[in-house]
Amino acid sequence: MPRKRSHRRLTRGLRFRLTASYALFFALLLIGVAALFRARLSTVLDNQMHDTLNQEWAALKGYLRIEKDGPHWYYDEEDPDESLIVLRMRRVYLLTDSNGKMIEVSTEYQDLGIDSAASIRSQVRAALASYRPESAGMSFWTERRNAENVPYLIRAGIVFDERHTAPYYVAIGTPLENNERVLAQYTWFCVGLIPAALFLGSWLGWFMAGRALTPVLEVAQAAQRISGSNLSLRLPTRQANDELDYLVLTFNRMIDRLEASFQQVRQFSTDVSHELRTPITAIRGQLEVALFTAKTTDQYREAMVNSLQDIDRLSQIVRALLLLSQAESGQLVLQKASVDLSDIVQDLADQFQIPAEEAGVKLSAHVPAQSMVSVDRVQIERMITNLLSNAVKFTPQGGSVRISLQPDEESVELVVEDTGLGIPDQYLPHIFDRFYRVPGSGTAPGPDQGLGLGLSFVAWIVKAHDGSIDVESSPGKGTRFRIRLPLGEAHSAPSEPARQPIMKEL
Ligand code: ADP
Repeated sequence: MPRKRSHRRLTRGLRFRLTASYALFFALLLIGVAALFRARLSTVLDNQMHDTLNQEWAALKGYLRIEKDGPHWYYDEEDPDESLIVLRMRRVYLLTDSNGKMIEVSTEYQDLGIDSAASIRSQVRAALASYRPESAGMSFWTERRNAENVPYLIRAGIVFDERHTAPYYVAIGTPLENNERVLAQYTWFCVGLIPAALFLGSWLGWFMAGRALTPVLEVAQAAQRISGSNLSLRLPTRQANDELDYLVLTFNRMIDRLEASFQQVRQFSTDVSHELRTPITAIRGQLEVALFTAKTTDQYREAMVNSLQDIDRLSQIVRALLLLSQAESGQLVLQKASVDLSDIVQDLADQFQIPAEEAGVKLSAHVPAQSMVSVDRVQIERMITNLLSNAVKFTPQGGSVRISLQPDEESVELVVEDTGLGIPDQYLPHIFDRFYRVPGSGTAPGPDQGLGLGLSFVAWIVKAHDGSIDVESSPGKGTRFRIRLPLGEAHSAPSEPARQPIMKEL
């Protein structure tokens, strides 16, 4: 079993697949080139044979003379070259008259089988028809084999007698044995060489693939050392500026992001424990004091009322956290419907009149008659409530808060501005973080103190609606939150009736 698994791992490995495809390509290339080369060799050898026979044919006309008493070969018998040439010509040789009647034939030609008189006659006729004194006339090429299966190339045509009156049929030939042997040798050479080259090539491919993949393995090994507790480790680049460096850089960037979110999670846990500890310590203190020192029912009652307030705050935190985590993990699905945002803003502004008056703050709403948008009503109400609640909370007596709506063709702009404390520049980037409260922002610790979660929620709601939010603030002068929400789809569905008042929820 283990051997099977390791075999499978090998064949599935990138190195194996790279080598295999390289070897396959190499094999096809070698076979293709060898076949092409063989075809070319065969043509060259063939052409050579044709040339040789053509030369012999031309020479034959000089040496063979057909006279009245029959054919005669005229050459210098003393000259070894000439003798050899004539001897070679007459090795495979046939001479007949124009009717196919045999006059002279060599034994080698006889072995090949003599052409029938009819075929000779028709060849002579065709040759005569195309005969021109200046050219050699039509020639006939055939390939034949003798009893031993040796191939021969035969060239046939006509020659004339001395007086140029009667045509004669002549065929000469040459064995092709040599050509076949050369081709066979070449084929066997390839059959031996290709597997050897393939083996060598595959080995080289395996070696090169291994070398190319080594950095990948190194990256994998380095990546294995990175865990949740040492996310600060980074993989070194090889400074080669290649694909692997790009992979390493991408990987490092991913670790950066992971580290940031790990850090965020850690910070979040610390913040949560801190936030929960404060009311728990308070409850414990109050109960202990009551247990050890309270004497009257009123004293016990007071301790219990205070504890209940802290418990309320605890459950508020837990509820808010739950909601936020649901929102951020995508479990909170928006229930979008077409609603009149003017209506919602006006309603909420009305609800905030009482707390604003209590705080001595003037609250005004400026909305168009109607502003239809496709949004999740509950979430949008939560968003406006948080912004208004903050504006009232952070605006001292005598100040004012203004909420307004400005629709255009594709979106609507909601602005909540106050003349309150403002937020110093250095704290602005953090106000949307969870549990973040601007240091010294004035709310006294206690049940009234915010959780620092409201704006995180606002940011999520805006994002979930594909909107945008920005904030401008100057300390001592006031703050302006500007939110842009897309109008969304058709505004057909009638809006639901307004819900019960939602005061600062988070
Ligand atoms: P909180 O529950 O404390 O209001 P938020 O997340 O809603 O938490 O706000 C974060 C912090 O941003 C607040 O603690 C406050 O310091 C600052 N902040 C928010 N809105 C305003 C505002 N309108 N004016 C001044 N400071 C503000």
